[in-house]
Amino acid sequence: MDAPTGPCDLHLHSHYSDGTMSPDELVGFSASIGLSAVSITDHDTMNGQAEALEAGSRYGIEVVTGIEFSIDDGGASHHILGYCFDHADAALSEALVSLAAQRIERARGIVRLLADRGMAVPFEEVLAEAGKGSVGRPHIARVLHRRGYVASVPEAFSRWISDGAPCNVPKTTLPLDDVVGLVRGAGGVAVWAHPGWNVKKGDLLDRFVAAGVRGIEVWHPNHSERIVEAIAAAARERGLVMTGGSDYHFAEIMQADIGEIAAPRGSLDALRREASGGSH
Ligand SMILES: [Zn+2]
Ligand SMILES: [Zn+2]
Repeated sequence: MDAPTGPCDLHLHSHYSDGTMSPDELVGFSASIGLSAVSITDHDTMNGQAEALEAGSRYGIEVVTGIEFSIDDGGASHHILGYCFDHADAALSEALVSLAAQRIERARGIVRLLADRGMAVPFEEVLAEAGKGSVGRPHIARVLHRRGYVASVPEAFSRWISDGAPCNVPKTTLPLDDVVGLVRGAGGVAVWAHPGWNVKKGDLLDRFVAAGVRGIEVWHPNHSERIVEAIAAAARERGLVMTGGSDYHFAEIMQADIGEIAAPRGSLDALRREASGGSH
């Protein structure tokens, strides 16, 4: 059998974070449209990885372990993707359990602030909204809307719970060094997600690289052709792995459908080489 050559969508979200499809559905659909590999990069959780890997062998498509973290860098928020790690790694699992607990604490804090302003949001309803996913502001926003406190979900955000709004509680994030350490400690590769024009910002990329980031997301729905060129040039200069994907969550808010933005097969091969000791 020839080695697979089709494109790879290395950025998908399942219902284990804030998407709506199961890993099984995402992997099955990706196989049906001819992608050669996929990665499910849920926020702060590996809960969908075993299901995705199993689905991959059933549908005959390669599945790479993935995750997406938020980091705080001096007040600016950035996302870091992790790939090709061992999803049974104890230190990574433990860190995620603690992040999940903090996420619930944050949601409870927001619900308390809303109650102070006369908006009753029962926490069980928020948890029910989240289902299998990790509980977060979108779920609180939906309850606020359903109970008639706001006219729409976007209004719930802008009036009450977006960053800086009166009832928001800031998210706890790990520092960059911790995220990179956890991903690498589990045998994986850390990649700067959708940097946009931040790629040109001062020494940001060089600091990330110094911290152990070995790849950068080039192909992403938020990236114009000019941004793609700038990121690809920065990646080549530093010998970074170039990745990409659709960042698909669900049809209602998608910017790109599954596989519509993808990385060439060579990206995945480079990630694998990097994970197994690196070629640089
Ligand atoms: Zn992101
Ligand atoms: Zn994402």
